[in-house]
Amino acid sequence: MSQRQLLLAGSVVPYELQRARRRSIGFIVGASGLTVRAPAWATLATIESALQEKSGWITRKLHDRQLREARESAARILWADGGHLPWLGAALVLRTGERWRAPELRGGELHIGLGSDADAALIRSRVQAWFQHQARTHFAARVAHFAPAMGVAPARLMLTSAATRWGSASSSGTIRLNWRLMHWRPEVIDYVVVHELAHLREMNHGPRFWTIVRGVVPDCQALRRELRSAIAPDWT
Ligand SMILES: [Zn+2]
Repeated sequence: MSQRQLLLAGSVVPYELQRARRRSIGFIVGASGLTVRAPAWATLATIESALQEKSGWITRKLHDRQLREARESAARILWADGGHLPWLGAALVLRTGERWRAPELRGGELHIGLGSDADAALIRSRVQAWFQHQARTHFAARVAHFAPAMGVAPARLMLTSAATRWGSASSSGTIRLNWRLMHWRPEVIDYVVVHELAHLREMNHGPRFWTIVRGVVPDCQALRRELRSAIAPDWT
């Protein structure tokens, strides 16, 4: 195992060379960058020419990886005065200060009403309670807006905090929506609301289901892709 570097497509690319019992030269782009796995017989010249040959793929993968890491670090929330929190598709600035009591939204700032010495865990739990309260109100209004036109009447609306699901609907008429949806822009939230309401008519993802969704949200597929590629902020 050795650390090397090479000029690839105009930029210096460091890589780790591993000798392995294999027939061909392989490339892996992971968290630690580029790893090249080569059989014992492959000379450095052979390895370098294989790298040049694959340079397009390698630089594209490294670039994708960097973008992803930048987005993930942006998704980390600083639970302190001045921290940013995505809210309805825009950034909300957290403000602590004893002047304010209950959390209150004022022109792009969320005034939390805790002393400036409040620790991160306390700020997070205060913001989370506010977030969930807002989610409940927002979802109820959007359900009330869409349900009558769609000919459905949900029996119950519940909040969830599932790590990977944004919403669900049960045959008993219960709609569950993830409070963390409030990070995304209103169009994305509406798509999820309509998606779950549509399940009260079609309990599957067949063509009839999508016809119902598209009838209310014409660009549902683009919104669905947007939601899938979005990286949710980390509340831990
Ligand atoms: Zn569904």
